[in-house]
Amino acid sequence: MTLDNSWFSEPYDVTGSAFSLKIKAKLHDEQTPFQHIEIYETESYGRLMVFDGCVMLTTLDNFIYHEMMSHPALLSHPEPCDVLIIGGGDCGTLREVLKHDSVQRCVQVDIDERVTRVSEDYFPELCDSNNDARAELLFDDGIQYVADCADAQFDVIIIDSTDPVGQAARLFGTEFYTDCQRITRDGGILVAQSESPLKQLDLIKSMSNNMRSAGYSSTHTFEFPQSCYPTGWWSCTLAGKENNFENIRPLDNGVTTKYYTTESHLGGLVLRPFIQDALK
Ligand code: SAM
Repeated sequence: MTLDNSWFSEPYDVTGSAFSLKIKAKLHDEQTPFQHIEIYETESYGRLMVFDGCVMLTTLDNFIYHEMMSHPALLSHPEPCDVLIIGGGDCGTLREVLKHDSVQRCVQVDIDERVTRVSEDYFPELCDSNNDARAELLFDDGIQYVADCADAQFDVIIIDSTDPVGQAARLFGTEFYTDCQRITRDGGILVAQSESPLKQLDLIKSMSNNMRSAGYSSTHTFEFPQSCYPTGWWSCTLAGKENNFENIRPLDNGVTTKYYTTESHLGGLVLRPFIQDALK
């Protein structure tokens, strides 16, 4: 469907802000058992993926989010072998994880298989690791998967979820983090997308507190630009099990990134004063 001079807009009550993109055409529209998926062709951001009216990703800037949701956590671990992704159905984070030679197995559990199938059709560049022998794509509730999982199965757990509403809400709570901590090996790391550091520091603080209540010994929040998300500024929060993120490894030879660097990782270990004050 061609939409001349039309705009897609996401008003986000939580931050009292909105984000709009000029669109050329609507490419897909589907109501799954879990969410309403829309795909658009935009004038300037490439393709746009929308769930229930909220921007999930665009062609133009998803690399920043996917690199920051994977490399800081993986490189803070001495040798991440088994990785779990909760959510992540667009498969961009999976692609970044599998760039690491130490990773022998990456299990991805997204509640909605249609997200992955739609991403394979409209964002094939995010899905080019889906057939990697190390990738295991499951379609289930991540909360149930973690609750049913045996102890000490993973070195890194990545929670690449939608916002803390609906079926994703419990992915931000102590009970879920406690199960994550149980299935994480000693020295392991959890990383979760933690929304806007400009307008949602209360959420970031409660996530960090919940992670510590769940038994993780340290937490740290990295912030990064993400123009398509509310306030244009996003974050991920790491939790360490006997790991304080101070010893990081350089990227493996041959691993290419467009945003992440070792230097920016080390710089990111220093919290901005306004974030430090809020997270005290
Ligand atoms: N970058 C996006 C953001 O920050 O909002 C997240 C993208 S990723 C596609 C979000 C995924 O979380 C969706 O595919 C959705 O199906 C999945 N999801 C939501 N709740 C879930 C749950 N309880 N278990 C597993 N996956 C879930």
